[in-house]
Amino acid sequence: MAETKRDYYEVLGVDRNADDDTIKKAYRKLAKKYHPDANPGDKEAEEKFKEASEAYAVLIDADKRKQYDQFGHAAFSQGGAGDFSNFNGFGFGGDMGDIFDDIFGSFFGGGASRRSYNGPMQGADTGITVTISFMEAVKGCEKEINITLSEDCTTCGGTGAKPGTSPETCSTCGGKGQVVTTQNSIFGQVRQVTTCPECHGTGKIIREKCDSCRGNGYIRKKKKINVTIPAGIDNGQSVRLRGKGEPGINGGPRGDLLVQVMVERHPIFQRNGYDIYTTVPITFAQAALGGDIKIKTVDGEITEKIKAGTQTDTRIRLKGQGVPTLRNPKVRGDHYVTYVIQVPTKMTKEQKDALKAYDKAMGGKF
Ligand SMILES: [Zn+2]
Ligand SMILES: [Zn+2]
Repeated sequence: MAETKRDYYEVLGVDRNADDDTIKKAYRKLAKKYHPDANPGDKEAEEKFKEASEAYAVLIDADKRKQYDQFGHAAFSQGGAGDFSNFNGFGFGGDMGDIFDDIFGSFFGGGASRRSYNGPMQGADTGITVTISFMEAVKGCEKEINITLSEDCTTCGGTGAKPGTSPETCSTCGGKGQVVTTQNSIFGQVRQVTTCPECHGTGKIIREKCDSCRGNGYIRKKKKINVTIPAGIDNGQSVRLRGKGEPGINGGPRGDLLVQVMVERHPIFQRNGYDIYTTVPITFAQAALGGDIKIKTVDGEITEKIKAGTQTDTRIRLKGQGVPTLRNPKVRGDHYVTYVIQVPTKMTKEQKDALKAYDKAMGGKF
């Protein structure tokens, strides 16, 4: 079947060089107009909504937009062109959750609207915190995390109905998941779309619930997930694992899992951005005479020469020996070393005599 897909820019009604803000605004307007919540049962509106959502998902993503500009729809043909459910399944869903929250959270009053849209919807994002050592943050690491997530119930195959039975179409809303009520107000008749109270927006009624999941269609399961934490990550930053969050609704893709990283303090290294700071104690004699000083860096111990006459609090820079940047691990911050002269607190008589002799030889000068 020959396909005639409209140009994404045309769909959103924006210029080919429109910026993200313009694209977002255009989509917001279309989504508000055509969202199934606002047009229950209107197939054409639903198609328009899907078309706009697809166009938005591509144009708001710099990489996908580049591909689209270069190859047109052919760039994504394997994604099941024109079919929003397939479209979501091929990894385009990731950013949609945010925009849905963003747009429909404010326009349609939050969660209820997401539930009452009967098409495939992406599952919720979920988060977990993982603690790693300072050096693991510098070098990057693999972590196994334990998390409890919802999985389709294997007893009922996710339908929530007792095996041998199946969910019935809700008679109150005819399976749409939402009902339209008309109310008289001072402005005249107001047509209101609300989530069906009978089926709570699912469009289905389960007469006999599955025993394993009590009709939820899913069960909570402990899972082990491996997460690759990139070198350079800082305390409080997160790694997003696409499609590892809660399961989607009506066949939609899973949400994302956000792994927030807590980095432990290091006994000697301190970090600011990608730079590392350390304090290295030196003796008065080393400072005065110069010499070799051993310095610990994240790559191991190195030897640095200090000049004769080095003052306390002198700071040197070890270029490119800081933390790898997230964007390019070959590019690294710097390591700043501050030399601090240590004054001895316990001395033998011999040492004291030597120091007195030194003081006398200096004749009161610095
Ligand atoms: Zn079940
Ligand atoms: Zn219903």
